[in-house]
This record gives sequence, C-alpha cells and structure tokens, in this order.
Amino acid sequence: MDVRRTVPVALDVDSADAALLTDTVDTFLWSAQYVVDHAFQGEYVTTSKTTLDDETYDDVREATDGFNGGLVQAARNKAAEACKSAVARWKNGKKASKPTFTSPHVVYDKRTATFHDDSVSLATTDGRIEADYVLPDEDSNTPHSEYLFSDEYEITGAELHYRDGDWVLHIHCKTDVESDTSEQATTENGTVLGVDLGVNTLAVTSTGTFWTGDEFDHWRREYEKRRGSLQQCGTRWAHQNIQSVGRKEDGRFKLMLHRISNELVAKARENGCSVIAFEDLTDIRKRTGASWGHKWAFDRLYDYVEYKAEEYGINVEQVAPENTSRRCSHCGFTHPDNREDEVFECLKCGYENHADFNAAKNIGLRYLRRNQTGGYGGALLGVRLNSGMMTVNGGYSPASSEVRTGVHAESHRFSGG
Ligand SMILES: [Zn+2]
Repeated sequence: MDVRRTVPVALDVDSADAALLTDTVDTFLWSAQYVVDHAFQGEYVTTSKTTLDDETYDDVREATDGFNGGLVQAARNKAAEACKSAVARWKNGKKASKPTFTSPHVVYDKRTATFHDDSVSLATTDGRIEADYVLPDEDSNTPHSEYLFSDEYEITGAELHYRDGDWVLHIHCKTDVESDTSEQATTENGTVLGVDLGVNTLAVTSTGTFWTGDEFDHWRREYEKRRGSLQQCGTRWAHQNIQSVGRKEDGRFKLMLHRISNELVAKARENGCSVIAFEDLTDIRKRTGASWGHKWAFDRLYDYVEYKAEEYGINVEQVAPENTSRRCSHCGFTHPDNREDEVFECLKCGYENHADFNAAKNIGLRYLRRNQTGGYGGALLGVRLNSGMMTVNGGYSPASSEVRTGVHAESHRFSGG
C-alpha cells in the first residue's frame, strides 16, 4: 500500500529569484483563471481536462509569452478540478460561483521541479532557479528526516506557497509499505497480529503496515461540507438530498473500509497469524478524541475483519485498551511522557518507534499475556513483528533486531515485566 505525506520546507530565495517566483505565481494563477473563464463561457461548464487542454493550451502559451508547458498543464488541471467541484456543488443543490484563484501558489511535478538532497530546482517564467532548503537543526525525528530524506519515500511533486514573506515548498512524498518476507521464515506459526486504530493513522499492524487517515478525513470533510450547506437550505428537498448524499458517502467509506479489512486479513495470512487482536473499541472516542464518524468507521472495520478472517480460521479478539499507547513494547515501562504525538520514546530504556506502531505491538502482547497459560496445544505464541519501513529510516530503532530475537524473547520479556 502507499503511505503519503506532505512535508513543508522553507526555501532560501534571494531577491532576484523571489521576483521570478512572484512572476511565476502570477502567471500560473492567471493561466488557471483563463482556463476557468473559458470553461464557464458556454451553456455548460466544461470540466474535461482533455477538452480544456485542446481549447486553451495554445492560447495560454501565446498570451504568457511561452510559459513553461508543464506549468500551463498544471494550471489547467487546477482549473479543471475547481470547475468539477463547482459542478458537484450544484448537483448537490448548493450554490457555487465561478472559481477564482487568489492564494499565491504554483503546482509542480517531476517535470517542472527537480528535488535534490538539500535544494530544489524550479521552473519559472524565465528558466529555472535553484533554491536551498532551510531545514531544522536536529536531524532526527523531524518530518524531513522521516520522509523527505528517507530512501523509502519517493517525492511525487510539490506546491510552492508564498505566505507572510516566506517561500515554502509543500513536498508530497509516498512510500510503498510492504512486510519483509525474508524475516517471516524465521518465526513460527501461531502468532498474533496486533492492530491499533486511530485518527491520524487509521490502522497500524504490529508488523509495521500503516493505513493513514488522510483519505477518510478527506471524504468526511467533503461530506460534512455538503451536509452543512444543505442543512442551511432547510427545505424538504434539501433534507432528502442530505439523505442521498449520506448514502453515497456511506458507500464510499464502506468501500474503503472493505479494502483496508481485506488488506489486514491478507497481512495476517501472509504472516501465519492465528489471531488478530484489536483494542476494545467501546470507549475509543474518549481515549483518542475520535469523532463519531471515526467510531463508526472503526466498528465497521472491526466487523469486516471479523467475518473475513473467519473464512481462514483466524480469530479476531479485543483486548483491554489501557495504556497501550503509553507502555513501552520493548521493556514494559509505562509513562504518559513516553509518548509525544506520533513519536514514542521510552524514558527508561530509550526505545523509539512510531507511537501507533508501538501501540499495535502492545495490543498483540496484551492478547498474548491474557492467553499465555491456555490453549493452542502448547504452540509458541508471539506477536508478529517485522522490520517495518517506518522504523528503518525514520530515526527509530530498527525492528529487525527484535525479529531476530524472535517471538520467544518477546513473550519472555513480557512475562518478566
Ligand atoms: Zn522501554
């Protein structure tokens, strides 16, 4: 699966280059506006990127004295998206006027920008400029070290913004998170896959696979925007529309949750797990600050995983949720200050990891402890771990050493502490 991140990086830009970038922003916004104006000319609003490209590309290039072709296309994409969302609002009974572009920005992709280790090359209205990144001093546990400079993350593009006198590049990057199959052979069957659910990261397994909440948040915000504007209308027609928007969004959420549940069950099968352990979901809103929408999603996800796992003889269980995010999965030391946002760092043994990943391991371990004395015909049980991508290059301690010490060490340490 893909994990996607956006990392803001300030740029060191001298006054000559700043003037060029300002000109580029103006030209980019002008181009986008030109395409929108064109799209709104006829009886119907044109939203097709291909049609808009055919009808405006040459004109825009001519009017802008040969503005970079890639940037003209990016401006046209921006315009097409804006037209599409205006049309979508109309279809949902909401008012929408012709889009205008005022916030100073430029959309870059790999053709119009080249990303180096400590600088970027950006296309402008007059050739390219090179700008150094202005980076924080410490080189660990920043988004820059975790994502931007990680070999595991690939940069897909960026948006240049101008705000309060600063040029800031919002760099988009992604990684493909897979389990490391070479490690799997070293552990035995009868293991537990721990799963932590949350708001920022929707789900994380004890093997280090992450499903971010971005997609869910996006659709939820869209849904609430539409519902809010329909509610303001107050008519019966609007009320019916709310229900139909609701059904549509329900369907979209469910589709996404089905996909995640399939991937979770596949992960358990790949790793030979006989149990998938979640934390008890009853009070999850209180613990995580999750919305009702998240609670709804967590409940669905749990249900889907449960019935899908059953087909493969995998049990799905819930364990007590207390302290799973505060407890060190390495030494067992429990303290609220072990965790700060996404970073877990044990105050006692120094173990560092992504906080949700640590929690997923604890959930697996808790299931294990609860069932240590019983069942499974004496088979060795362990929490399925892996050398998760997020740990190797993110400044966290590598999980691979734990994998090598194996499930026995994990469960032994557990019974000792
Ligand atoms: Zn510790």
